[in-house]
Amino acid sequence: MDTNERKEKKTEDSFGAVDSLIRESVERLNLSPAVYEHLRKPVRHVEVSIPVKMDSGKVELFTGYRTQHNNVLGPFKGGIRFHPAVTAEKVKALALLMTLKCSLIGVPFGGGKGGVACNPLSMSAQEKERLSRGYIRALGFLLGPNVDVPAPDLFTDAQVMAWMVDEYNCLAQKQVPGVLTGKPVGLGGSAGRVDATSRGCAYITRDAAELCGISLQEARIAIQGCGNVGGHAARIFDELGCKVIAISDISGGIYNPRGLDIPALLEHVSKRGLIEGFSGGEKIDNDDLITIDCDILIPAALENQITAQNAAEIKASLVIEAANGPTTPEGEQILKEKNILLVPDILANSGGVAVSYFEWVQNNQGYYWDMDTVNRRLEKMMVEAFRAVHRFGREKCGGANMRTAAYGYAVQRLAEAMCYRGWL
Ligand code: NAD
Repeated sequence: MDTNERKEKKTEDSFGAVDSLIRESVERLNLSPAVYEHLRKPVRHVEVSIPVKMDSGKVELFTGYRTQHNNVLGPFKGGIRFHPAVTAEKVKALALLMTLKCSLIGVPFGGGKGGVACNPLSMSAQEKERLSRGYIRALGFLLGPNVDVPAPDLFTDAQVMAWMVDEYNCLAQKQVPGVLTGKPVGLGGSAGRVDATSRGCAYITRDAAELCGISLQEARIAIQGCGNVGGHAARIFDELGCKVIAISDISGGIYNPRGLDIPALLEHVSKRGLIEGFSGGEKIDNDDLITIDCDILIPAALENQITAQNAAEIKASLVIEAANGPTTPEGEQILKEKNILLVPDILANSGGVAVSYFEWVQNNQGYYWDMDTVNRRLEKMMVEAFRAVHRFGREKCGGANMRTAAYGYAVQRLAEAMCYRGWL
């Protein structure tokens, strides 16, 4: 099996796990089998070729995708990623997760996802701008504030959203700020969007810790990943007075049982781009980070990090999935046997889409909220979702694990809307 085939296989595996969780939810909750039929396939999936003039003067063709998975609850919503591992199957699988995530936290959106197979690290800013504009010229006809609303994802950021919204406005011959979220604050973006995923994750961690009888102030936290999600999470936990004892990135990790100096570490990362070379602790590798002696483990980097190979060695009592898909089904089974509480990705990292929703609301209103208002509303949404999932697990899923409860809760809401609309 070559690398690409292996990547495809992983995607199929994670999609397979999601698919069976949805089927189980439909059966457990005695819903119409048509609910599963609606959710197993996207409403629409479009693949395009995007010609981009590179700085060398040569034109390269990139493959772009947009999947519109389900819109029973509202306009399709989901990020656009620029990454070499983007494939049609991966985009479809991520779009389905967005349908579940939006339903779970109660925002009036469906699920979608987009991407371009490319290597953004080897592209200049001008090449990325031409690719971003090309994506909108090729796929903009599918988008609109009441139709499909993309956002940033891996290797796309506020600047990419700004180029995209500008191109969309030019084609539409009007200002349409609500067509995309994750824009710069100076261009209709929301206060608080930049660290919303991490902040939402921190609210969920606080409530989950309380459920496990862990005092957040005394807890030792380990975080895998020091990017958008992991880096902001480390800062927020540090500001809350928690002890972050280990953190890693692609260059390896750093461990200090007395607690890391997070502001110094983040300054080092912002200057050097990597954790490597930071002297405030003992150097560890990424495998050590997952199994380190801690109370709360937060995978915030990649898929498939907690597996059958390392789950038995995990010492944490609580795992918060800040990344998408960091735990394989086999790894999760082992955590369950060890009585480790796992808060699933569709709940733990939904703060980003919550504030994307707030941005869309503000764009539609033409009236902008301050940071305190955004954070207060985010906290309310996260706390309510966490409590609702926990209650649903107890009452409707026989005390099953939190992923089963989260999927059941999301699927039940989707089924109810499908029923109202006459789709069943
Ligand atoms: P990012 O690219 O900003 O950061 C990723 C981090 O992971 C980097 O620090 C990188 O060095 C590190 N990393 C890469 N390979 C690693 C390895 N082998 N071991 C340890 N660390 C490694 O990405 P991000 O936006 O922080 O996203 C991280 C995860 O969170 C992804 O799964 C993403 O889908 C998910 N997520 C992100 C958001 C968001 O708002 N950014 C929202 C929901 C979910």
